[in-house]
Amino acid sequence: MRSDNREVKKCSICGKHFITNKSRVVCCSPECQKKRNKEIQNEARRKYVSQKEPKKKKKTLEEISVEARAAGMTYGQYVAQMGL
Ligand SMILES: [Zn+2]
Repeated sequence: MRSDNREVKKCSICGKHFITNKSRVVCCSPECQKKRNKEIQNEARRKYVSQKEPKKKKKTLEEISVEARAAGMTYGQYVAQMGL
C-alpha cells in the first residue's frame, strides 16, 4: 500500500506546475531534469575550479572524500556531480 503524498510543484527550469509524489523531484519532465542536471554540473565545476588551489594539480581520493562528506554527499555522488 502506498500513501498518497502527491503535491503540486513548480518546475525549477521552465516554471510549469506539475504534480509529483517524489519529494526530490523538482522538474516537470525528463527534458527539464536534463537541463537541471547540466546546470548543477556546470555550477559545481565552476565552484570546483574557483576553489582549486594553484599549487596542487590533483586532489587525492582522501581529499575528495573529505570534501564530499563536507558537502553532505557520498564520494560517488560528489564525483558524479563534479564530473570527475
Ligand atoms: Zn519544466
